[in-house]
Amino acid sequence: MTVIRSINPANGQLLREIPFSSVEELTAAFASARTAQKSWALLPLKKRAELLIQLRETILNHADDIVKLISSENGKPVFEVVATELLPVLELITFFCKKARHTLEDRRIPLNLMRHRSSILQRWPLGVVAVISPWNYPFLLPIGEIVMALIAGNSVLFKPSEAASSIGMKIQELMDEAGIPHGVFQTLYGDGTVGAELVRQRPDKIFFTGSVRTGKKIMAAASENLTPVSLELGGKDAMLVLADADLDFATSAALWGGYSNAGQACASVERLIVHHAVADEFKRRLLEKLATLRSGPSGPPGSNDLGPTTFAPQKAIYQKHLDEARSQGAEFLAGGEFSEDGRYLKPTLVTGRTIENTEIYNEETFGPVIAMTTFRSVDEAIQKANASRYGLLASVITRDISQGERIARQLEVGTVTVNEVLYTAGIPETPWGGIKDTGFGRKHSEEGLLEFVHTRHIHKPKASFLVFKSLWWFPYTPYQYGTFRALLETYRKSRLSKLRAVPHLLWNFVQFVKNEKRI
Ligand code: NAD
Repeated sequence: MTVIRSINPANGQLLREIPFSSVEELTAAFASARTAQKSWALLPLKKRAELLIQLRETILNHADDIVKLISSENGKPVFEVVATELLPVLELITFFCKKARHTLEDRRIPLNLMRHRSSILQRWPLGVVAVISPWNYPFLLPIGEIVMALIAGNSVLFKPSEAASSIGMKIQELMDEAGIPHGVFQTLYGDGTVGAELVRQRPDKIFFTGSVRTGKKIMAAASENLTPVSLELGGKDAMLVLADADLDFATSAALWGGYSNAGQACASVERLIVHHAVADEFKRRLLEKLATLRSGPSGPPGSNDLGPTTFAPQKAIYQKHLDEARSQGAEFLAGGEFSEDGRYLKPTLVTGRTIENTEIYNEETFGPVIAMTTFRSVDEAIQKANASRYGLLASVITRDISQGERIARQLEVGTVTVNEVLYTAGIPETPWGGIKDTGFGRKHSEEGLLEFVHTRHIHKPKASFLVFKSLWWFPYTPYQYGTFRALLETYRKSRLSKLRAVPHLLWNFVQFVKNEKRI
């Protein structure tokens, strides 16, 4: 039997071994998810929301254990677990339980030409949704998606990252304890092979968060069955520091944006694009602050700022980017090497004349690494920020908020934060997702919730006396043609032309009704 070894990345200690879910277990999970979804969708939304509010309460009841578990399996400091995993999860549950009714209720659409008919949009669940998650925010990312899927009436098959399997198991326990019915939420364990089997067994939607490489594989496999996919993939997020920026503020923003969660965030500041006039002072202050960051194992609150590299295979990518940058003559202002035990990459700031041609500047490193360059004009800053294959988030730091917004409107990304960094992936009210190689689809907000439902359009007569054979039905006749031809003329710009069309329209219409029988 293949097992996942769940380990503490700070010391290599084995936390537990978890067997891979077998193909047979997956097939059985699909069958029970399909059956359970039918009764789940029939529950009134209020009842589904009550159970999710109970989940919120259950999470709070176990908050201290969850903090301990996430900081041991994922390595992040306990403050980050509380602030960037638990708090946003509670916010997301609260938001969707309150607001989902409004998004999911029927909507009437006023019609222009067909005023005797009415159109209604009905939202209905997709069925079984597969949520496949990465390891970097192992609690926040999946629960946000799971809650949206469940409140909309779907059942969920969840595959946590192999590097977050104990946390995945905890999520299953919390759901069970909260009373989410068996079959409505099930967790499957394993690596990409289990993820691939989940995709192959034809869920009704795949909500994937992870790397571009895996995203492409999933999309290719999903195309076999035309399974819809949402892809939340990588980023190489730029932070623009304008000449007027408060440099104390800007350097603190870059520090947290680039190095929180040890830089293992899709929305981390990985590229710094700083106005040349303030670049030297900016560097000096950033380096001063960077030197105060404390890397180390998770301990009591306040004992460290950066944890270890969570997922060991990621180190090979760090090393490749560092080596390539060195070979291109990049200038390392800080870091650039691992700690003695190899578990921590020291917070790294790299720059230099050739930096814009390096992998470390162009490809996602997903670690505590910032590559810095400069600009001379706002246009150049925008052009540099947009010169990326990714399009997740960008930030602009300036004292002139209007100028910040003008720049924001020209950046090719899903989110721009002015005088903030990184954090909006944790806000429930706003959509999260990217463009270009970052993928497509949105989560959170009303837009995100709509990704978890089908929309059914119901088109009906406004009253029974308005039921008649439509004018465009067979047989095709000259008066019918005349009526529609005159109708076209009513779309002219000039009022006079519109008016001229009316007698033709009426005459043809009357003849048409008098003389012709619809079949
Ligand atoms: P990954 O692509 O290696 O793995 C993600 C998940 O996919 C894991 O559960 C893995 O087991 C599974 N998987 C792997 N191969 C599969 C296959 N062929 N079919 C189905 N499932 C498969 O990514 P990772 O290393 O866990 O996460 C890091 C990446 O996630 C980074 O690129 C980061 O930017 C991205 N990310 C994006 C967002 C976002 O919101 N855009 C958020 C967090 C992380």
